Amino acid sequence: MAHIVVVEDEHQLAHLIAQTLRDDGHQTEVIRDGHVALDRLTGPGRISPDLIILDLGLPSVDGLTVCRQIRRERIVPIVMLTAKSTELDKVLGLELGADDYLTKPVSLRELQARVSAILRRVEMMRVESRTEEDSTKPIAYHDLSVDPMGREVVVEGREVNLTAKEFDLLYLLASHPGRVFSRTYLLDRLWGDSYSGFERTVDTHIQRLRRKLGGSGSVADHIVTLWGVGYKYDRTSSAPSSAPSSAPSSAPSSAPSSAPSSAPSSAPSSAPSSAPSSASDGAAAAT
Ligand code: CA
Repeated sequence: MAHIVVVEDEHQLAHLIAQTLRDDGHQTEVIRDGHVALDRLTGPGRISPDLIILDLGLPSVDGLTVCRQIRRERIVPIVMLTAKSTELDKVLGLELGADDYLTKPVSLRELQARVSAILRRVEMMRVESRTEEDSTKPIAYHDLSVDPMGREVVVEGREVNLTAKEFDLLYLLASHPGRVFSRTYLLDRLWGDSYSGFERTVDTHIQRLRRKLGGSGSVADHIVTLWGVGYKYDRTSSAPSSAPSSAPSSAPSSAPSSAPSSAPSSAPSSAPSSAPSSASDGAAAAT
């Protein structure tokens, strides 16, 4: 059961959505005005729903503004409702960080499916963060050691200077060898409040991290790209990590991760070098 806020000014639609979600066992709250939504969802005394369904066209403050404002303050899944495809372009173009969207007329069955998919993903991330509390354990592999207390990285006997974010990225990946981390997860986890919605940020940091670790043919090859999914640290990997052919074979083997839900849908489009990957993830999710 989740607490879901529905921000929608059309009475009948708001009622239908809320009823459908309640039938699925969720607790719902309907807000019919943008200004009220901001009051309830941001600032002091705000409520903390598990998910927000947000209409783009709202009285007093539009949905884009509401979305941006919420994003500035917190990470909570947001599903945007849009009336026409031109609005959809706007949502994607601005990369607001909406987690998903539905176009009107809203299919209630689709809504149910999207909502439960997102809630599953969130729950998975919660479980992960509970099991990852211990961030002080040093890593000592034969070719890489990472000391989180002194924030020191040694590669084959050579000390490597990393920025804070590069260090966090390496430590998170290397302390969970074999586990796939999606870009979205890495962004949320490591960038948090300053979350920009640009998954390319992760790609850029990975590139720099690999370079600092010694580039191709070095420890850097352990950081493996799973196209359209994310990254993992593979202790056994010796092939150049940028080879696209490694993706299909390594994807199924890496079972316990945050990635599976987004993996199949976004696979073909979001190689690091391609267009904004968050937009393509969104597009894929809409199919
Ligand atoms: Ca509306």
